[in-house]
This record gives sequence, structure tokens and C-alpha cells, in this order.
Amino acid sequence: MANEKKRDYYEVLGVEKNASDSEIKRAYRKLAMKYHPDQNPGNKEAEEKFKEINEAYEVLSDADKKARYDQFGFAGVDPNFQGGNPFQGGSPFGGFSGFGDLGDIFGDFFGSFTGGSSQRRNAPTKGQNITAAVEITFEEAAFGTEKEVNVSRIKTCDTCGGTGCKKGTSPEICTYCSGTGSVRSTRQTAFGTFTQTTACPHCNGTGQVIKEPCPTCKGKGKVRTNKKIQVKIPAGIDDGQSIRVRNEGNAGSNGGPNGDLLVGVRVLPHPIFTREGANVLCEMPISFSQAALGAEIEVPTLDGKVRYTVPEGTQTGTTFRLRGKGIPYVGYKTRGDQYVTVVVETPTKLSKEQKDLLRKFAESVDDEAQPKRKGFFDKLKEQLEK
Ligand SMILES: [Zn+2]
Ligand SMILES: [Zn+2]
Repeated sequence: MANEKKRDYYEVLGVEKNASDSEIKRAYRKLAMKYHPDQNPGNKEAEEKFKEINEAYEVLSDADKKARYDQFGFAGVDPNFQGGNPFQGGSPFGGFSGFGDLGDIFGDFFGSFTGGSSQRRNAPTKGQNITAAVEITFEEAAFGTEKEVNVSRIKTCDTCGGTGCKKGTSPEICTYCSGTGSVRSTRQTAFGTFTQTTACPHCNGTGQVIKEPCPTCKGKGKVRTNKKIQVKIPAGIDDGQSIRVRNEGNAGSNGGPNGDLLVGVRVLPHPIFTREGANVLCEMPISFSQAALGAEIEVPTLDGKVRYTVPEGTQTGTTFRLRGKGIPYVGYKTRGDQYVTVVVETPTKLSKEQKDLLRKFAESVDDEAQPKRKGFFDKLKEQLEK
């Protein structure tokens, strides 16, 4: 409801600005009786009126809120009111949060209004979803697999076919509510007399009673069972994703469909590969001489080893791409790529002879062979000469 359409609270209750507490209360009771949803079933206008009356009364019956309303108008009592709220930034006052929260004043006054009708209790409802979890390897995630999960779920009782009755018997109409599933009662409150409709306590709103319950399900119509279910896990699934197996959850009620089974997938880490979406990443150590001279190396992939030629003068940290060696996109044949990052390993534990060779090598190398190093020292020199 837009604020500009909001009517003055005194006007809503039809009282003068200087009306006394008892006058406000009397006016409210009269209007609340008139517009109560029970007296006006299905009447939207009456419902709006009723809300408006309650909102007005909530403020005008509270000395504190009334004082703020008198001074600041709606802005003083409604935290949602925009424009000129002197208390903006916080919501120091309760304000209104809607119809539902008025329950404090009326208790279960809205019993018939907010739910619990006999039709609803017997309406077909879908069963609840259940969950399970599986652990799979990196490769299984890449290429798909099938896993068995053991679930505990609620199914329709086979003995009674879900009626909850002993064989040869059937449910009887509840005599307490005459099968309607709801009962009406008249209640005296501070605001007057109200008729209230609630679910029948004898049949729990179903309108039926079971005289001779089924021995298997004790009259519930449902039993809990364990079942092993084969779950197809599609190629390309990633850690943390889940698979929905339709119709394998808890049984529905009154002919409603079963819920679903949701299987959470955890992908175990791989010793070499990591994953980024459909791409596979890995690091590949190569020797100093392989990097310097170039070499044909064998790179592990999901499809086995692949030959790759590292060019002469390859630097550490260089990444190359193996097209189509990644993981399939779920539901497609197309695969991501594999990215291999080369890490040049500095040799350790050299013999005296090897060290001598390297020293000789080092003497023979000039700066032009190592442009990065040359560039670095050139910059450093410049810096020192400044
Ligand atoms: Zn049964
Ligand atoms: Zn009943």
C-alpha cells in the first residue's frame, strides 16, 4: 500500500483527535467486528479495511506510538515510511510488518483465515526430498560413473496401500466434525465475540478416523525403509554439485507425487591434477638442461601420457595448453583443455666433476644469453647512478 494513499489513523477509526482511550477502543471493536474476515469471507475490501483498522488501533492504543504519531505523522511510527523520517537510519520503533504479525493481539483469531481448512489437509501433497552423499575420484568426475547409495526413506505402506486401515476395513467419517475436518467455536475476547474455525482435534483435520489401524504402519499409511539406489553421475560433474533423482524421495500424501533424492557429490583431490571448471591444471617439473636445450617430454593427461616438445630456452613458469584434454562440460561431448605449467628444477647434490663443468659453462655464458638477468642488472645500475 503506497503511503500517500494512507488514511489518517483517527479518520480510519472514525474518532476525534482528542478521543479518549476508551472511545478509541470502542470504535475499534465496532469496526473490527464489522470487517472481520470471518464475517466477510472472500471479501478483499473488507480484509484491507480490517488491516487498516488494526494498524490504526495498534498505534492509537499505545501511548508511546500515539504521541509520536501525533507529532510526526506516519513517519513517527512506520520505519518504512520514506521522506522526512526524523529517525532515519534505524528503526527505533516497532512499526508494522504486516497482517501476520498482528497475531499477538488476536492470538489464533485467524485460524480459519490463514489455513487449516479440511480441503487442504486432504489435498495431494508431494513427499519431502531426501538427501544422500557420494565420494568419487577426479577421473570418475571427469568421465562419469554410477554409484550405489543407501537411503532411508518413507514409502507408502504396502499392507494397507496407504489408507492406514486394517485389511478389510476402511476409514470412518469423524463424528466430532461430521467429516468436515474443521470445528467452529465462539470466543469472547476483549474486543468482542468472534467465531473461530480450527482443525478438528479428533481427526486432525482429515475428517476421517481409523477404527482398526493397519498393524504394519500403525495407521500412518506410511513406513520407513532402506533402499539401495543406483545413481548415474554424469561426466563433468564438479565437487559440491548435486544430482536430482526424481521420484526417489519420501512418498507423497493423498495421491501426491514422491519427493526427489538429492545426491551431493564430493570429488576427491587428485595427486597431480587440479581443476578449474572444465580445464585441468598441472605442474610439470623439467630439468635445467631440458629447459635450455629443448626436449620431448611425456605429460600425464586424463587419457594417458601425451608427448610434448618443450622448445629450446623454455623459462620456468611457462604454461602450455593441450587442447581438448580437459573435462567434458556436463551434458556435452566437448571438453575443456589441460594447462601444463613447466617448473625448471635446479640440480642439487652435484659431483665435483659436474660442478667444474658448470663453472666452465658459467664462464662461457655472456649476458646476451640471459636477457632477463642482463635487464635486471642494467636497471639496478641505473638506479644506483641516480
Ligand atoms: Zn499400513
Ligand atoms: Zn473430525
